[in-house]
Amino acid sequence: MIRFALKCACGHRFESWFRDNAACEELMAAGHLTCPACGGGPVSKAPMAPFVASARSAERAETEAKLDERLRAALIKLRDAVESSSENVGTAFAEEARKIHYGEAPKRAIYGDATSEEIEELTEEEVEFSRIPWLPKGNS
Ligand SMILES: [Zn+2]
Repeated sequence: MIRFALKCACGHRFESWFRDNAACEELMAAGHLTCPACGGGPVSKAPMAPFVASARSAERAETEAKLDERLRAALIKLRDAVESSSENVGTAFAEEARKIHYGEAPKRAIYGDATSEEIEELTEEEVEFSRIPWLPKGNS
């Protein structure tokens, strides 16, 4: 299989795969190749231009931006769900989580910040908690 950059009479550029060069020439000569943008012909070979490469990377960036957007939306939803169902204990998270674990504070859902040392300690004490990616408020 070989890929060629092609262009139609009105200048649309596109790419297509062929069995080999001869197959491409044959299809072009027979007028079987049409432009995917305007459906027209005749179609001829175009040089593999940087234009094609940049169009492709733009497409990729767009896909990534869409994914990013979806991820953000999911994180905002997650944050809202946590906020509405849990108590914000801020930086006292580790202390509060430990108290709940040892029954010194009422069992409830809490959320807040913890340092990496605190997280290590909680893990060692087998206090149940989970880490979630948190989107800062100003970012939504
Ligand atoms: Zn065209």
